[in-house]
Amino acid sequence: MIRLYNTLTRKIEEFKPLKKDYVRQYDCGPTVYWYAHIGNMWRYIISDFLRRTLEYNGYKVKQVMNITDVGHLTEDELAADTGEDKMEVSAKREKKTPKQIADFYTKAFFKDTQRLNILRPQVTPKATEHIDSMIQIIRTLEEKGYAYWAGDKYFVYDISKFKNYGRLSGKKLDELKLGARLEPVSGKKNPFDFALWIKDPKHLMHWNSPWGVGYPGWHIECSAMSMKYLGPTLDIHTGGEDNIFPHHENEIAQSEAATGKKFGRFWLHIRHNLVNGTKMSKSKGNFYVLEDLIDKDYDPLAFRYLCLTVHYRKNLNFTWQSLERAQRALNKLRQQVSQWEKGKKGCPEFEKEFLRAVNNDLNMPRALAITWDLLRSNYPDSSKKAAILKFDQILGLGLAEYKLIKPSKRVQQLVEKREKLRKQGQWQEADK
Ligand code: ZN
Repeated sequence: MIRLYNTLTRKIEEFKPLKKDYVRQYDCGPTVYWYAHIGNMWRYIISDFLRRTLEYNGYKVKQVMNITDVGHLTEDELAADTGEDKMEVSAKREKKTPKQIADFYTKAFFKDTQRLNILRPQVTPKATEHIDSMIQIIRTLEEKGYAYWAGDKYFVYDISKFKNYGRLSGKKLDELKLGARLEPVSGKKNPFDFALWIKDPKHLMHWNSPWGVGYPGWHIECSAMSMKYLGPTLDIHTGGEDNIFPHHENEIAQSEAATGKKFGRFWLHIRHNLVNGTKMSKSKGNFYVLEDLIDKDYDPLAFRYLCLTVHYRKNLNFTWQSLERAQRALNKLRQQVSQWEKGKKGCPEFEKEFLRAVNNDLNMPRALAITWDLLRSNYPDSSKKAAILKFDQILGLGLAEYKLIKPSKRVQQLVEKREKLRKQGQWQEADK
């Protein structure tokens, strides 16, 4: 039995897919105008744990993750009418077209996910290739009376027409109105009515539509692409906690109003990552991408290991010390396991415990602890290896592929020499 915390009900519930043995999983994907940072990667590693856990339980998983390659403005930015979105800014800065920018950073993103052993979703649709599907949904919403013009630029969704608005985030319409901090775009009935289409022929990326030349609002793309590849009802929808409101709330409002069917059955949200206990930001200088870790000689999988040590509903607090500890633990695990021959028999009691942990709302820290307990147990090494490699189908630490490389004699001598110099405090010589 798999149990997951469902944001929609605020409870841990038993998970069963709608269709027997087949799970439809949708993950909100990256906006590809810059490198993904390690907080993004923590979020995709958790989606990967989820998929692997479902597969470990014998489910066939169809996983879809969108690529946001249309530049978007947030509702705040729209209201402030700053004009340029991040994709446009990147395109100008790098003297490239938005498509070149998107292609470059999409490639970089998948290079990172591969290095982190994140399984590639079977479908990774691009927003720019699904404008027609978005237009179709907006047209349905218009026909059903859920959309109206706010001024002559914004074709928006009327949240007051959707009776379940606020259910996911626990926000109430009246409170939303009162607490609205943003200046409403002129003509909006409610400040949280959100753009479905923005009429703007001058926007760098634009398309024809029944509402004039322009581009789609951000939220509509996830509704369009998830339903195109997975049908009107998804088993699990994942995202970062900052997606709950308004992004996911709006996805639900659009999708359910258009189809009349339940959109997402389970909503799984991953908490933020922190760096040294504070929020990661470019201005604070604590903004890291995977390449920064690799530059300091860390293995990308050490970061994956670090992600295993924290539950997804807690903040992952990244520090260089914690990464160092993760790297050491990973090395130890690899060295140990690579020395053993794999046997046919596993270790049933540990395997049972492991399964119970991962199925209990993806309790990876517990699963990792069980792996170490097994390593230290009295089972024969061959059985331990058989079980641990099975666990690695979820952990994804590449333990089966890892081979202990014996350094050459010359390298060994140099290492010894370096250590000797370091002990004598001759740092410069040692480094040389
Ligand atoms: Zn989304």
